[in-house]
Amino acid sequence: MNSNPERPPPVRLPELLKGQKALVTGANSGIGKATAIALGRSGADVVVNYATDRPAAEAVVAEIEAHGVHAYAHQADVSREDQVVDMVATMVDRLGTIDILVANAGLQRDAPTAEMTLAQWEKVISVNLTGQFLCAREAIKEFLRRGVVPEVSRAAGKVICMSSVHQTIPWGGHVNYASSKGGVAMLTQTLAQEFAPHKIRVNAIAPGAIKTPINRAAWQTPEARDSLLRLIPYGRVGTPLDIANAAVVLVSDLCDYVVGTTLYVDGGMTLFPGFATGG
Ligand code: NAD
Repeated sequence: MNSNPERPPPVRLPELLKGQKALVTGANSGIGKATAIALGRSGADVVVNYATDRPAAEAVVAEIEAHGVHAYAHQADVSREDQVVDMVATMVDRLGTIDILVANAGLQRDAPTAEMTLAQWEKVISVNLTGQFLCAREAIKEFLRRGVVPEVSRAAGKVICMSSVHQTIPWGGHVNYASSKGGVAMLTQTLAQEFAPHKIRVNAIAPGAIKTPINRAAWQTPEARDSLLRLIPYGRVGTPLDIANAAVVLVSDLCDYVVGTTLYVDGGMTLFPGFATGG
């Protein structure tokens, strides 16, 4: 029996996404890596996008292929239109089509607002928001061209926009990041509204605090971890697998009627824990 709540057993539903083709951006690290592997474990062929660190991406590819599906790594900066167009065109060429996009790539460039440079602002908006727009646009073009293939999925395509609890929770010292995720929330809803009639499902996942390199400072020391846990009613920091498992179910036909919503996977962080005893 698995007794460690921080290491839940992986979902093993090999037929759930059988025959589907998935693209995960920023898939050589953290949440993207866990999601790419989980999609492969569930039967999808997977393109592992990365910006830097090809060996890490190739290691993810090897882990996915161990599940008997196809995978390859593709270098592209999601904020560069030409590279995103080429990435999706190459995928259609190599795998035949795209059924699932997980627009996950993201970064932080933190600074108090009075000291934040325009470069810090623009970098975060261009990767976290423009990058998701570009990837979604290219995937949707292929979904529209191909339409529904009933033996593959009830939907013509699925997009998950990786958002954050900071699409809802304001975050001083991170105005670029919080604004990018607020934008992702409206990107998700607007794309969902526009393309639901074409049987394209666009949803978001809003992770809470997940142990990955992006937020190492928030969980690395016991003091930081204790202070973080005060914000999480469920009493543990999340893992990349918590998000990956949710993503697998959300893109599967089990969630075929889920359109334009944000699934918070946050241990209750957005439940205003301070109000449990105050207010
Ligand atoms: P991470 O740093 O481990 O992964 C981010 C990935 O994005 C990396 O692979 C990185 O190389 C890639 N990336 C960055 N810029 C890129 C670019 N221009 N083109 C392509 N790839 C690029 O961090 P993570 O925690 O796994 O973050 C993944 C997503 O989850 C992000 O969108 C982040 O905002 C979101 N998120 C994370 C947390 C958390 O607590 N870890 C919470 C909420 C939301």
